[in-house]
Parts: sequence; C-alpha cells; structure tokens
Amino acid sequence: MTQTIATPPLREAADSRQAESVLRNALKEQGLRCTSARIAVLREIYSSGSHLDADELYQRLKKKGVSISRATVYHTLDLLFRLRLVTRIDLGHKHTHYEKSHGVANHLHVVCEQCGQVVEITSSELGSMLEKLCRQQGFELGSFSLQVFGQCIPEMRNHSCTRRKKK
Ligand SMILES: [Zn+2]
Ligand SMILES: [Zn+2]
Repeated sequence: MTQTIATPPLREAADSRQAESVLRNALKEQGLRCTSARIAVLREIYSSGSHLDADELYQRLKKKGVSISRATVYHTLDLLFRLRLVTRIDLGHKHTHYEKSHGVANHLHVVCEQCGQVVEITSSELGSMLEKLCRQQGFELGSFSLQVFGQCIPEMRNHSCTRRKKK
C-alpha cells in the first residue's frame, strides 16, 4: 500500500504539544532557559508541515515578529535533532532541510531534480523490505528518512514541472 501523508489537524496539535513538552524537559535538564524563541522554532516546524531550512525558518519567525538570531535558530535545530524532534533531510540542496519527526511515520521523499517539488510517500511494503534487509545484516530497523531523486512526468501529475524545458 502506497499513499501520501495527510495528518488530521487534531493529531497534529497533539504531536506539537507532546514535542513541546519533550523540549521543555530537555532544556530544564540541561540547565538551558526555555525561551519563547526556542519554543517558536519548534512550533514553526510543527505547524508548517513542510521541509524548511534554517534560513527559511529564520525569515518566517522574523516576519511573525519573533525576536531571534540566526545563531539561536541553528542551535535550537541542533538540539531538536538530538532530541529526535526533527529529522534532517537532504533534498539535493547545499543546505539541510528539517521536518518534524514526532508522530510522523517513516516516509520516502521523491524529489524532482528540475523543479524541486517534493512528494512524501509512506509504504508498508518499503518498511517491511527495509526491516528484512536490516535483519539480514544483524540490525534492528530504527527510523528512516529516504530521498529519491527523479523528474516530474507532467502527464502523470496535475501540475507541470516548472523547470522542464519546453520542446
Ligand atoms: Zn518529509
Ligand atoms: Zn519537476
């Protein structure tokens, strides 16, 4: 079974709250202040539901009037990654993209090399296959984040690749 992901809004809010309490506890344990800027980074990632890089995050927060520095965005992303609240993904750009991971099923990103469009796919078949491959090597499958690069086929999707050269 292959399907694209659509998380219901209620689930999303609960995931965001859970992630927030994990972050608050970790900050307390590490003796770090639980500033509104740090919480804002987490909320922005969880509410956007998309793949953001550090600079996009910084710009979004600035626009919303959050007082934050680029350094704080980077530090907070590192912390969120260590707490497994965000996943780092390589979408073929020079910079890393981040997405929420709490309450999100393992999925595959299919990226168009020409227009950069990203489609998310969950597949139980893929999960079982990876589980089997890991077992064969003596590993237990943990989380995964996979990227596959290709090119949009205009006739197959209800959009056209914006960077595809017209013949
Ligand atoms: Zn994703
Ligand atoms: Zn494309």
